[in-house]
Amino acid sequence: MKVFNGLHAFIWQDYTQNNCNTYLIEGSKNILIDPGHQHLFGHVEKGLNALNISLDRVDVVIATHGHPDHLEAVSFFDKPTLFAMNLEEYQFISEFAGDYFKIPEPDFFLKAGDLTVGDESFDVISTPGHSPGSICLYWRDKKVLFTGDVVFNQGIGRTDLPGGDGRALKDSIQRIKTLDVEHLLAGHGDIVAGKEAVQANFQEIEDYWFNYL
Ligand SMILES: [Zn+2]
Repeated sequence: MKVFNGLHAFIWQDYTQNNCNTYLIEGSKNILIDPGHQHLFGHVEKGLNALNISLDRVDVVIATHGHPDHLEAVSFFDKPTLFAMNLEEYQFISEFAGDYFKIPEPDFFLKAGDLTVGDESFDVISTPGHSPGSICLYWRDKKVLFTGDVVFNQGIGRTDLPGGDGRALKDSIQRIKTLDVEHLLAGHGDIVAGKEAVQANFQEIEDYWFNYL
């Protein structure tokens, strides 16, 4: 679905299988966020085809964190497409994944702070808790926040996976809730659209889910 001109969401809607949402920023550079599981990549490919974007026209693939349901399909991309994720996350997941799944080596690493891709600039925000090197990507000009598995529509990421940390997740959520956001695009579930809805969602998370962290 088109969120607005230049931003597309491939929302995963089959609840019998776990996979993440994938997002495409279409502009001077095409940026794909969280390509998802390898065996379920067909729905992303279909979405890209409908937009006449072949895989080699994706300039950068960004992973919010290293779990296979977000990252695995990165392996379908090759140069000239670049792959980026956080260094600490890459090291942690590479060690942990062992032979279970292979993470391609990133072409560059995402550090907290500014990231410019083509004409667009982003804030990379360090948000550990669900995983140690998880990041959120804030597209300030468009007031869009890609949250990976930090927060969802009416929920938060698990903290019981290796490297998970409830205290850290709480701090991370506090850090992103003050941003000016019109569209909260999470790694799973529905989009939260509208500033008030985004604020209400953060409030609900604080009122309810913080009791469990
Ligand atoms: Zn995850």
